[in-house]
Amino acid sequence: MNDPVGPARSLCLIGCGPRGASIVERILANVPALYGDRPLDLHIVDPYPPGAGRTWRTDQPGLLWMNSAAEQVTMYPDESVACAGPPRPGPTTAGWLGAPLHDGAYAARRDQGRYLRHFFETVTRELPASVRLFVHRARAVDLRRSPAGTAPGGRGRQQVILDSGQPPFFADRVVFAQGHTDTLAAPAPAGLTRIGPGPADPEALAAVPPGARVLVRGLGLVFIDCLVLLTEGRGGRFVRPAPGGPLRYLPSGREPRLYAGSRRGVPLPPKPAYAPQAVPRAAPDTRAAPAAPRFATVDACRAVLSRPGASFGGEVWPLVVAELGWCHYRALFAGQPARTRMSWPDFDAQYALLHPDADRLAKLAREAVPDPADRLDLDRLADPLAGLRFAGPDDLQHRLRGLLAEELRRRTGPASGVATALVDGLQRAGAVIEELWRSGELSAGQLAEALTHFALGTYLSSGPPPLRAEQLLALAEAGVVTFVGPGMRVTAVPGDGAGPGDGGVPGHGGVQGHRALPGDGAVRSVPGRAVFRATSPALPGTVYEADILLDARLAAPEPDRVTDPLLRALLSRGELVQEGPEDGAAGLLRLSGADLHPVDSTGTVHHDRTIAGPAQFPRPHTDAVYFRQNDAIARGLLTDD
Ligand SMILES: Cc1cc2nc3c(=O)[nH]c(=O)nc-3n(C[C@H](O)[C@H](O)[C@H](O)COP(=O)(O)OP(=O)(O)OC[C@H]3O[C@@H](n4cnc5c(N)ncnc54)[C@H](O)[C@@H]3O)c2cc1C
Repeated sequence: MNDPVGPARSLCLIGCGPRGASIVERILANVPALYGDRPLDLHIVDPYPPGAGRTWRTDQPGLLWMNSAAEQVTMYPDESVACAGPPRPGPTTAGWLGAPLHDGAYAARRDQGRYLRHFFETVTRELPASVRLFVHRARAVDLRRSPAGTAPGGRGRQQVILDSGQPPFFADRVVFAQGHTDTLAAPAPAGLTRIGPGPADPEALAAVPPGARVLVRGLGLVFIDCLVLLTEGRGGRFVRPAPGGPLRYLPSGREPRLYAGSRRGVPLPPKPAYAPQAVPRAAPDTRAAPAAPRFATVDACRAVLSRPGASFGGEVWPLVVAELGWCHYRALFAGQPARTRMSWPDFDAQYALLHPDADRLAKLAREAVPDPADRLDLDRLADPLAGLRFAGPDDLQHRLRGLLAEELRRRTGPASGVATALVDGLQRAGAVIEELWRSGELSAGQLAEALTHFALGTYLSSGPPPLRAEQLLALAEAGVVTFVGPGMRVTAVPGDGAGPGDGGVPGHGGVQGHRALPGDGAVRSVPGRAVFRATSPALPGTVYEADILLDARLAAPEPDRVTDPLLRALLSRGELVQEGPEDGAAGLLRLSGADLHPVDSTGTVHHDRTIAGPAQFPRPHTDAVYFRQNDAIARGLLTDD
């Protein structure tokens, strides 16, 4: 019956969180023009509800919030998106929810899940008659090729094997949209508990006894999630005794004591207070974010990258730094002109002439902005505790609480326009780098360098909502959270008779817990018992010990530690290959370039497979690369070889 048009092409998406759902939307948007009424089967595989997937499941605690302002999140590609497929305008998360948001701007993650499920239902509600949709609520555990010659390219169709006992089905083309996959945690020695790495796990956290000491590694977003579940989630309350005054924490008595640190030793700075549709001031001094980068444009980056021997750090990064400086000073001149001693047009003109020469830009900034505290100092922002030593734990706590309070003032007070401008600049520069990366214009080495440099961007721009940072400050003041210090090092000391000092902590001059330290919470070590032990080189002689280690961070992809059965199967047969440390992008799957097809261990490109990794949500009206790339993937799935 189908002879004139041939058998149905079968497409399969493994994983249907936001990325998979967006690709489904793009496939359906492109079918009429690219595939006409030829029969098409669309298989979706995910154990979680399509659209929301695992990260945005609607049954998670309401205390877990998004870190993006709901007004800046959309799943609908609007007219700004320069892609070949048609636009599909639709509401942002804020527009769709239409309800009051947390901290004035942020949706609960489960509400984002409702938006995402609604998005998926909307785009799949009215399918063309030629398209059949199959939703498999299961995990894909393997992908096997049937004999060659039955699919375009002569490779053979692929059989998708599920863990649900459902019979396998055939797919001609497969997209992997699996998000952040888990990695095997290092085992904890007997008697000790280790939680994570990975997203906050409410069940594992619920098992932490009240009053237990917990070492926490990581001060980022997963830390904030864990913190809120272990405090407010256990009945503690945040109150503000005086309007506009500081927040206080009223404990329930059921919270553990957390000893938290990281490489930098400081929590992520919060997002700047969100000002929807900031009103532009008189031109040219405007507080509104510029629409496009001024210096770190895609074309400028491309031009410097095309130089022989170009590196990311040497050529592209100076453009990014110049961009960030320009955003910072533009906002300073607009919002606090009294703190400058030059007119903006003069500064702007000189800046454009001098960039990207960092020394000359710094000289210009010294001339135009008298107070060093008003100048952009990326090194200080990136590592505020670098090189510092502290007299004792109280000294460190005092310093960190002061830093947190200062960050909150900078990002939510009257001068927050400067912080907002920097974050906007970082996001725009990040989008340019993402574009270069996703279009295959960065070599593996350049990508590795870009990821290292852009860790700063992530640190400065991906923080929690300001209210969460204020809550952290209140918890530190209440003694629920004690900061361990920068360069945090954790060792597991086994329990078989190894007493204090046997844990391999270099320069360890005794366990601080033996001394009474009012309020610092350092523990008394019990000789012979297994413990996790945390130290910081900035706090010599202080050791924190606990039975529980919480790795509060997402797992970095690591060769040999993959837990996903599908990836394990394909890696074990050499059909997928992870980059090694020598390639600078350890753990990432080896891909063919911008078209995102995997390369196997023989160097063969699998054109009927596409790897679509996780990405931040796109912002409306920004021609987001997210939509452009998903559109290109969808069109590739619908076109003939
Ligand atoms: C806790 C957390 C909070 C975040 N908050 C934000 C935020 O506020 N703003 C922002 O912009 N970004 C945020 N992100 C970034 C995040 O990566 C994206 O928002 C988004 O979820 C990524 O979409 P995705 O579809 O690629 O991955 P996911 O949302 O993780 O979806 C992947 C899906 O693949 C499925 N899957 C995996 N393996 C298999 C298999 N073998 N078989 C079948 N199905 C499989 C999973 O079940 C999952 O549903 C957050 C990430 C995390 C982890």
